[in-house]
Amino acid sequence: MSWTGDPVWLADVLREEGLRVIEHDGWRNRGHGDMRDLRGVVCHHTGGGGASDWETVQNGRPDLPGPLAHLVLEKDGTYRVIAAGVCWHAGRGSWPGWPTNDANYYTIGIEAVSVGNGRDWTAAQLDAYKRGCAAILRRIGRGSGDCVGHWEYSSEGKKDPAGIDMNAFRREVQVLIDRKDAPMSAAEVKQIQDFIKGFCGPIGSDAKDIREQLCGQGSRDSGQFTGWRQLGGKSVVDALADIRNRVLSR
Ligand SMILES: [Zn+2]
Repeated sequence: MSWTGDPVWLADVLREEGLRVIEHDGWRNRGHGDMRDLRGVVCHHTGGGGASDWETVQNGRPDLPGPLAHLVLEKDGTYRVIAAGVCWHAGRGSWPGWPTNDANYYTIGIEAVSVGNGRDWTAAQLDAYKRGCAAILRRIGRGSGDCVGHWEYSSEGKKDPAGIDMNAFRREVQVLIDRKDAPMSAAEVKQIQDFIKGFCGPIGSDAKDIREQLCGQGSRDSGQFTGWRQLGGKSVVDALADIRNRVLSR
């Protein structure tokens, strides 16, 4: 599904990916005019590294009016949604399939908070970076090949995002793009069914039996959720959720 115009869905698709989102007042109307058909995402680092980096991204600098990117990615993995219109983030450069020197009108810019030495990324931030890119690319019907580091695009000598191997980054983004689209296979469904049969056995009609089966041996009369030793102390629901996560992230 391609998209032409301002990405007014940015906050929604990030939230649907399970990401934390802060919507800044007026973001849907902020920008230097309207976006055209969206071709991809450009990844940046702010170069500041502090909690107020977003202010420059939103308001601009003396030499360049804001907004300077659509999104700011904080160190804890939270996305700030700054703008839906055109942002001055890409500058001059080129990438296959994108109009040369004109990427601002066709790409979403993400500024990730970092001092820019390539060593201060947090695990939460890198995880959210990939998931955010995947969510956007999936929404605009593009693959990870259109997830581009500023230094890869720029003909002006940009170095951001520092310390990120963009080829490895793209491989992981592609896995994330594909994951949400793929229904569970019959084999995966059977794996879960067998798991349930394997340790539950037949569940009796007594509500206390059901409670014990779900919550662990000893739960029946004590009312405590003791978990199952065979499941590493987890309840059935927690164990199933664990399996599901592992199946989906393969
Ligand atoms: Zn940049």
